[in-house]
Amino acid sequence: MPPTCDLLNYYKVQAIIDKASQEAQRPKNAISLIAVSKHFNQQAILPLLKAGHRAFGENKVQEAAAKWPALRTQFPDLRLHLIGALQSNKAAQAVQIFDVIHTLDRPKIAQALAKEMQRQGRYLPCFIEINCGREPQKAGINPEELGEFLHYCRIKCGLNIIGLMTIPPAHHNPGPYFALCQSLGKKYGLEHLSMGMSNDFPEAITFGASFVRVGSAIFGPRSPGHQN
Ligand SMILES: *Cc1c(COP(=O)(O)O)cnc(C)c1O
Repeated sequence: MPPTCDLLNYYKVQAIIDKASQEAQRPKNAISLIAVSKHFNQQAILPLLKAGHRAFGENKVQEAAAKWPALRTQFPDLRLHLIGALQSNKAAQAVQIFDVIHTLDRPKIAQALAKEMQRQGRYLPCFIEINCGREPQKAGINPEELGEFLHYCRIKCGLNIIGLMTIPPAHHNPGPYFALCQSLGKKYGLEHLSMGMSNDFPEAITFGASFVRVGSAIFGPRSPGHQN
């Protein structure tokens, strides 16, 4: 496991969020920081919890299931965000462990989640993931399909859709992609935007991000071979 998290990095990220929100003339409490703790163990996560941080992101159901239930008994008010791809056979466990889903990207997953939420009586807020760069290998629905998919999720499945999530193509200026998501959010009246990672969260804030998902800038680099 990588070395434990240095709170200094966490406070630096907070300061950058404050500055970016000021420059964008947005109240700083309009932006929630999700600390992405994938590949880091409980020792790395505990200092943040002890410092009062409560929002964390994981990209794998299995890994989250191993780490978080014990932490949750100590910190019952923490909020765990699923930010990675979800398989429908893991929907039950995902609904049990997580509090927010950021990666709703196809009807099959919408159905599986809706069924489990009803069964467990846990109605988690969800983000629809947008493939803003239309990359064939990437998850997310294409921008022009959003209207139909949103309708499906809400009307057919009864899901609580609160916003859009996106990851811009690597090695591109992220601005136009963030702007695209911002305009889609406005068009469909969606309140939240989950966008911005360690290398682009200040820009994401400029374009209206309300949740930024920051991993390595807080916890340090992840071990090689585990970059996702
Ligand atoms: C890993 C990950 C992040 C955090 O990435 P960093 O570059 O380490 O900040 C954010 N969002 C998603 C979907 C991720 O998988």
